[in-house]
Amino acid sequence: MANRIYLDNAATTPICDDVIEVMSQALKNVYGNPSSIHADGRSARTQIENARKTVANYLNCSIGEIFFTSGGTESNNTIIKCSVRDLGVERIISSPIEHHCVLHTLESLAKGKRIIFQQVKLQDNGEIDYDHLKELLGQSDIKTLVSLMHANNEIGVINDLKRIGEICKEDSALFHSDTVQSIGYRKFDLTELNIDFLSGSAHKFHGPKGVGFMYKRGEQHIKPYMEGGAQERNMRAGTENIYGIIGLAKALESAAENMEERIAKIGAIKKYFIEQLGCIAKVSFNGLEAKEQMEKVLSVNFPESDKSAMLLLHLDIAGISASGGSACSSGSDVGSHVISSLNNNPGGKTIRFSFSHKNSLEEIDVVMEKLKALYPNAISQTLEHTK
Ligand code: PLP
Repeated sequence: MANRIYLDNAATTPICDDVIEVMSQALKNVYGNPSSIHADGRSARTQIENARKTVANYLNCSIGEIFFTSGGTESNNTIIKCSVRDLGVERIISSPIEHHCVLHTLESLAKGKRIIFQQVKLQDNGEIDYDHLKELLGQSDIKTLVSLMHANNEIGVINDLKRIGEICKEDSALFHSDTVQSIGYRKFDLTELNIDFLSGSAHKFHGPKGVGFMYKRGEQHIKPYMEGGAQERNMRAGTENIYGIIGLAKALESAAENMEERIAKIGAIKKYFIEQLGCIAKVSFNGLEAKEQMEKVLSVNFPESDKSAMLLLHLDIAGISASGGSACSSGSDVGSHVISSLNNNPGGKTIRFSFSHKNSLEEIDVVMEKLKALYPNAISQTLEHTK
């Protein structure tokens, strides 16, 4: 939308022009059903297999280990539910700050007495407590899946996938990571990580919505979650979202090629915003103490004030899009389970600003002007304080 400032890139990102271009071409020219054996079908199939190669190259895994889905939610549901159904998983260890598509899936499996559900403690910085994970794994020999996200979507904290993978290996536990927020923003080499399953979603890295993928390590033989067709080598029934898949591959290719440049730009925006926010008294941040964090996410605790309850609305009216929690709660502006778990801002208002390479420092200046207008007392207090 014209003239708005979009700072909700952890919820979703605008599609890049090069992605729109390849998708438009495909919409015009690629119409065969990839399952048809004639030339039109084969041409569509080739496009899908090329896209699969792009994803496999990015992750450094085999093309046979990548399956296209409708996005992160479907990938995570498939991995978790099928591990319980097909791999004999009886216990799942996760964390309290997973995305709802993981958390609610686990809660429903536990409610139906299908699994023992345990949650690992968090460190004060928002990372998982690695020693507690070891302790939990050591408590039982039953078949266990560890499901821990890579980058948290609300506070940007990054867990150490290599370390978690090694801990899982010691106890022969399976390891699934929701990598939806970090795909396209970090390099992955799956030959170096002990990961059995991961998930990705195109709309988080400037691709289209409604398309994603899951990685399933070759030796983990789960059966399909969606049935009724032989697509995706019998793993996911339904005619493939070919335009989405083509867009996903292009977006991932661009993200990989421009990763350093984009991260540098986004990181500079985050740093500048943190500095500027220093003029509002009692502002604090979530996730900044972690060893590694996503450049794109800045979770800000604003002090309680007569404006704080409606802060998001005030920003929205001023043409600024941000969110109060994860994407699914950003519309309704309900409290966040992540911030509650950290217990970092009782009474105040936490806003997640999230950036992309399409943002600028000038936009942050505009946001700051609005925030200063909403917190005039806080600013004068700071000035008094620094005299
Ligand atoms: N996992 C994480 C960490 C997310 O941030 C999201 C999206 O908000 C999802 C999963 C769900 O992905 P999708 O929107 O593709 O279903």
